[in-house]
Amino acid sequence: MQIVFATNNLNKIKEVQSIIPTHIKLLSLKDIGCFEDVPETQSTIKGNAIQKAEYVKKHYGYDCFADDTGLEVESLNNEPGVFSARYAGPQRDANDNMDLLLNNLIEKPNRNAQFKTVVALHLNGNLETFTGICKGKITPNKQGEKGFGYDPIFMPDGYTKTFAEMDLILKNKIGHRGKAITQLVAFLGNF
Ligand code: IMP
Repeated sequence: MQIVFATNNLNKIKEVQSIIPTHIKLLSLKDIGCFEDVPETQSTIKGNAIQKAEYVKKHYGYDCFADDTGLEVESLNNEPGVFSARYAGPQRDANDNMDLLLNNLIEKPNRNAQFKTVVALHLNGNLETFTGICKGKITPNKQGEKGFGYDPIFMPDGYTKTFAEMDLILKNKIGHRGKAITQLVAFLGNF
């Protein structure tokens, strides 16, 4: 079986490839000749995941899945949420985003947060979604070099390391994307 993963984010591809069984061949957007930015203009994480999967099916004809992820911070009314990628501006820079978030949390004692990933799957004319959540805390400073995005400032509950200090196997096991992709794999196992 082969299926398109509608992303250009190499970190996401690496994470997902290490979970998906080898008999499922992942095609990237590049593999199908899609070089433009896939639109993600919806007001929810789920809406964006569905929009990306539907775009690829409509314009390229492939069955595919897409993920969208947001970091929801309790004391910031669940922001940045759907705006996580462009929190500090259109440059979509991870360090700028983390700096702004740390700044906005100064003086806020509640640092509870969660990552939410929604995976939307377009398969045989049907649409399915799978949600993965990982709860944790925003650390006072950046810690670690691994991973991407907000990983250096997110410490999952029950651990004393940020995602950026963990190896990929552990992040996948306890993380939001890993949980959503595991449900996707179980679903694909029925085909
Ligand atoms: P998107 O799903 O690519 O739209 O990601 C939204 C924002 O969340 C971007 O700034 C990503 O860098 C960030 N992000 C997505 N997944 C993760 C993750 O697993 N760890 C840390 N940041 C992430």
